[in-house]
Amino acid sequence: MDINELLKKENLNRDEIVYLLGLSDEKEINLLLERADEVRRIYCGDEVHLRGIIDFSNYCEQDCLYCGLRKSNKKLPRYRMTPDEVVEVAHKIINKGIFTIVLQSGEDGYYDTDQIAYIIYSIKQKADVAITLSLGERDFEEYRTWKIAGADRYLIKHETANPKLYAAFHENQKLNERLEHIRFLKEIGYQVGSGNMIGLPNQTLEDIADDILLCKEYDLDMAAFGPFIPAPDTPWENKKAGDVVLTLKTMAVARIVLKDAHIPATTALATLDEDGRIKGLKAGANVVMPDFTPSPYREKYQIYADRRCVNDNPDYCRSCLQLQIESIGRKVSSSRGDSFKLLSHKN
Ligand code: SF4
Repeated sequence: MDINELLKKENLNRDEIVYLLGLSDEKEINLLLERADEVRRIYCGDEVHLRGIIDFSNYCEQDCLYCGLRKSNKKLPRYRMTPDEVVEVAHKIINKGIFTIVLQSGEDGYYDTDQIAYIIYSIKQKADVAITLSLGERDFEEYRTWKIAGADRYLIKHETANPKLYAAFHENQKLNERLEHIRFLKEIGYQVGSGNMIGLPNQTLEDIADDILLCKEYDLDMAAFGPFIPAPDTPWENKKAGDVVLTLKTMAVARIVLKDAHIPATTALATLDEDGRIKGLKAGANVVMPDFTPSPYREKYQIYADRRCVNDNPDYCRSCLQLQIESIGRKVSSSRGDSFKLLSHKN
């Protein structure tokens, strides 16, 4: 296939996506990344959207084989922040000029419908910020209640579009159920983010192509493609981490295919490569999700090992990111950074 012709195409099919993911020639990879950067500029502009994450509980009722928060990991010290602590941290994030708050936890039913609704409502009283929930699979009625309380977005990774691969690392959850949650969340008006992990054992380039196509089929508002990183004290602790270049190629192809979806430069990528955020932003990404969970909790949110910036003071994070973003001629957005799809429907 001629790479220049391929990169000019409006729509890529599965074989073409697999071909691009398999590129090994450095010049051709650079052409792919440059095209993704161009598509990002056309559809998303030069602004980078910051999403401030609060990891408010590291308890989880699930047992995903790769994840450090899995319930069978008895070595992880557990914590739960109180609803008022969460609201207080959210207000600090807003005061730093960040207008999306991501409330994230393991699947932790300790926080009932009303507690989460209270947190959402209380944060919304302070400012016109967007609230993203990342709480795993919860009850459909809860999703509705939280939407009414003011939640805007839901982040729930499909992890892999291959049902067999999915079943290999989930004990109780099924891919078709997860996809049902994604469909329902879209239906009731959430801006929905999903995504995969790159470098799962036995994952093929075809699987990754299917991940990208699934994000397209579901018309997702955000799609995250991050490398798998093994976590200590889990059954997958000795597996090999995902590859940085393959992750960048995936992000770039995803940008070309998904066009106006938000794509983050993930913390996982920055964990494997200290320039990962910048490389990601140059490979099609337009979002960064800094962690504002306060100490002594943040060190304990160990989905995987040695998370980037985990030992930094969150107060430092905002200015550090701004410098990184401006160093490549981009600027930090001062908007909520809603879905481009939503904005284009409004116009
Ligand atoms: S991946 Fe999510 S659901 Fe699975 S164990 Fe980790 S926190 Fe729980």
